[in-house]
Amino acid sequence: MHGKHSESDRRLLKIWAMLAVLVGSFGSVEARSSETAATGSAPGTLRVDYFHSGGLGEEIWSLDRVVVEPLPWPGHPERAIDTTGLGKYRYRVFDREGTEIYSRGFASIYGEWETTGEAKKMHRTFHESLRFPEPTDVVEVRVEKRAADQSFAEVWRVEIDPGDMLVDRSAVPKLEALKIHYSGDPARKLDLLFLGDGYTADECDHFAERAGHFTEVLFAYEPYASRRNDINVWGLCPPAAESGVSRPSTGQYRRSPVGASYDAFRSERYVLTYDNRAFRDIAAWAPYDAVEILVNGEVYGGGGIFGQFSTVAADNAWADYVFIHELGHHLAALADEYYSSAVAYELDPDRPEPWEPNATALKDPKALKWGDLVVDDTPLPTPWPKEAFEVLAEEIQSRRKAIRAKNRPESEMSALFKEQSRREVELFGAPGRVGAFEGANYAAHGYYRPEVDCVMFSRNDVPFCAVCQRGIEAIIDLYAGSASP
Ligand SMILES: [Zn+2]
Repeated sequence: MHGKHSESDRRLLKIWAMLAVLVGSFGSVEARSSETAATGSAPGTLRVDYFHSGGLGEEIWSLDRVVVEPLPWPGHPERAIDTTGLGKYRYRVFDREGTEIYSRGFASIYGEWETTGEAKKMHRTFHESLRFPEPTDVVEVRVEKRAADQSFAEVWRVEIDPGDMLVDRSAVPKLEALKIHYSGDPARKLDLLFLGDGYTADECDHFAERAGHFTEVLFAYEPYASRRNDINVWGLCPPAAESGVSRPSTGQYRRSPVGASYDAFRSERYVLTYDNRAFRDIAAWAPYDAVEILVNGEVYGGGGIFGQFSTVAADNAWADYVFIHELGHHLAALADEYYSSAVAYELDPDRPEPWEPNATALKDPKALKWGDLVVDDTPLPTPWPKEAFEVLAEEIQSRRKAIRAKNRPESEMSALFKEQSRREVELFGAPGRVGAFEGANYAAHGYYRPEVDCVMFSRNDVPFCAVCQRGIEAIIDLYAGSASP
């Protein structure tokens, strides 16, 4: 899966992408009137924009505005209630009679920021959105936050009247969505949007080629391959005035349409957008349940937040891997199973049980949440060559720092990652056994992952572990119609 493609591969991809553009221009997404006719009675898409502020022990939610987006609701009409139990937060929508009519779990940039040291020193504000089917009458939206013991408590409640004249029904100028892979009515499919950022109008055909390529990457991994008929893939390329996105650590600043930037939380490879309003307004021109932002750049980077979006620098040699890994965070709330790289978060010394499906504190091995996938004689915790792995990781990390410090060409970083991958695969031997392997969720001790290797653990050419595959399937079932949730 990894590495650069040959010239002939590239030519094929280019032709394929041009076909996708042509198909897209004939089959573009129509505004609500005609789409509603096609889907029967799909409601509109209502969006509550708000500011999530806090720090110094405080947390405040405040309403910004209510928007009705230009396209109909893309979610499954019979899967309105979230049964997966995932997320640091969840929102629940109630009608006048008190009946719950919609819910979803989610995470947020604020939710990550509050675990950084900065939140102990100052206040900050992040813009966020909640989307649900446009109701016909007044509804109450309740947001709940998860505590360390896994229980949810209400943190915000707001009444929304869809008939209020201040509900904003305007939209940014229409963008034509590319129909990259179409399986059927968005209401019955998981709709994944590739959203370009930092592509000039002249570079949008390059964006289309990349979006086509990552669609092929998606369907090379299980469970996406088996479920390809439950998935639609769309593309949007809002034209940028200048090529590329901001990368503050090298003095590169761009006012790109979606606002994506390297150096989120001062981590050079972490790419996020804090400009949620711009992001949501542009994304509204495609049906979407999940969004992968393709950043026009070749420096290694990406990010992914459950229920918000994921990102990848689309021209990096490791972009295929970063894409599939970060989409795992965004779409299925998968935890990072790795623990060697430096990250911005501070770890809770009590090691509370993570809510993500693929990491555990293993406080009671008999109650292991993926225990049904463990073969009887597998010891818990499960032995693996942890010490040798850590010696190798330390060596790679210091060489990586040296490459960045000397501002060496990106090809040197890619070569280093390839060497690391080859040596790790040698060390791990045959994969495939489910157990509880110590080292996960950024911690060398106290957290455990399901298999020795996985897309969420390493950059090695391996599939998702059995537990991660099951987690992704659960989310596909929440949006697509063919299987029961
Ligand atoms: Zn996994």
